[in-house]
Amino acid sequence: MSDEGFDEWLDAIGEGEAFYLECDEGHGSLPPRRICPHCGSFELSETPLPASGTVETFTTVYVGTPDFTDEEPYVTAIADFGPVRLTGVLRDVDPDDVEVGLTVEPDVGRNEATGDRLLVLRPR
Ligand SMILES: [Zn+2]
Repeated sequence: MSDEGFDEWLDAIGEGEAFYLECDEGHGSLPPRRICPHCGSFELSETPLPASGTVETFTTVYVGTPDFTDEEPYVTAIADFGPVRLTGVLRDVDPDDVEVGLTVEPDVGRNEATGDRLLVLRPR
């Protein structure tokens, strides 16, 4: 999580300028990357991320790692944003109300135990 490309990507999300990387073949991927994971292309360009995505799968975690002890239980979700999928911690929603298909938008939050920034997904 200390990778510079990832930090810059979180900065962009925090500024409302979320993007993903698109190769010249149209494959989507997320920073930090220099090579398309699908075809090996080096031609990656920053492309605006769709404003919202939908929860594709999620996991409610009742016994967290030490980093998350302040906010148990929490929900991690994988959201489909079209060309890419984002994995983040769902916030602002009761874990019991999370369901596949929930519309979410990306944001930057903090792990309250460590102060580290992380990708969060909020209902839209
Ligand atoms: Zn590609």
